[in-house]
Amino acid sequence: MNDAATISRKAEFPGLLTGEGKPWHYLDTAATAQKPQVVIDAVTRAIGADYATVHRGVYSRSAEMTLGYEAARRRVAEFVGGAEDEIVFTRGATEAINLVAQSWGLTQLESSDRILISELEHHSNIVPWQLLRDRIGFAIDVCPLTDDGLIDLDAAERMLTKDHKLVAFAHVSNVLGSVLDVRRAADMAHAVGAKLLLDGCQAVPRLPVDVAVLGCDFYAFSGHKLYGPTGIGALWARREILDAMPPWQGGGAMIDRVTFEKTSYAPPPQRFEAGTPAIVETLGLAVACDYVSSIGLDAIHAHEARLVAQLREELRGMNDVTLFGPEESAGIVSFAMDGVHPHDLGTILDEEGVAIRAGHHCAQPLMDRLGVPATARASFGIYSDEDDVAALLRGIERTKRIFG
Ligand code: PMP
Repeated sequence: MNDAATISRKAEFPGLLTGEGKPWHYLDTAATAQKPQVVIDAVTRAIGADYATVHRGVYSRSAEMTLGYEAARRRVAEFVGGAEDEIVFTRGATEAINLVAQSWGLTQLESSDRILISELEHHSNIVPWQLLRDRIGFAIDVCPLTDDGLIDLDAAERMLTKDHKLVAFAHVSNVLGSVLDVRRAADMAHAVGAKLLLDGCQAVPRLPVDVAVLGCDFYAFSGHKLYGPTGIGALWARREILDAMPPWQGGGAMIDRVTFEKTSYAPPPQRFEAGTPAIVETLGLAVACDYVSSIGLDAIHAHEARLVAQLREELRGMNDVTLFGPEESAGIVSFAMDGVHPHDLGTILDEEGVAIRAGHHCAQPLMDRLGVPATARASFGIYSDEDDVAALLRGIERTKRIFG
């Protein structure tokens, strides 16, 4: 994306203006992305003129909605390189990981087993495993990080044993932007007979993702970080793994035949989608995939990498700022200012029309590892540009003056 393209992109996102119609320097895309007008229009159509339920109605509007809903599944599958029947729609990455824990984990893990996660995981790739561990009794091992904030795969290789049944890592860290060497992680996991689950929340909006090339077994992500609506996300899993997984929630739409004595279940992915689905949000997600693909993930990655390099360079020049994470981060920069709590920085920046995230970013064990209670995090998206970086730097300078 050249600068002209970036500037015109901003106009496609109504959320990037303040209430007074002024530009808003939104640097919290890792929390949730602003929505392009095409997605807003698709959602408006789906909940308005086109609205009807799916999979049940015999009338034509419902039949059309069902076609649209299943086309969305094909679109999302294509977006991550999977097959249509390997995509289970969920509320988001959190629900996708809980699904794997409560269905695959509950039936495949035993008390003598181990799983491996990492020190940089989001709580949604820690707590579901602890909940399950408390029921079953397996061990959770934690892979350390390298000094620049990558999951230390040399350490992982030393830690993995035949007892490990699962490796569950973030593809991209939501705090540090660190990108996992997925092929190596997959080879390592498979060498000991473990499955590899990737939390792809921060990767799908920033990197080309093809599950077949990555070689993972489960891939979880959220639509709202991919410029789509909230309340929709997906789990991709290999067909043979899904086939062997029992349902985790019961209700309508996931059954084959119900009697009071016995119920048989629909094949995947319907087996895992009990109840009326998030129809509107799913259609919005498919349009978001189209939108992102039309720009191209290579271009998005290069664009964000340029902004990351620029911001890191400026921050490195400030002797009262600590930078976290690797140089080559995917669209996310975490930092701390001496003597200024990230929340104070965030509040002052807000007065300047700059939105960053300040806090533990749902990664408290990572904060412990970094030795800080919180970080300030700036994260970029399709619409971010040099003006946003400049506004952030102005706000940081003002904060320094205020704190003397
Ligand atoms: N994993 C990562 C790396 C994330 O960044 C997030 C969202 N902050 C999640 C999981 C959870 O996503 P959601 O809240 O959309 O389920």
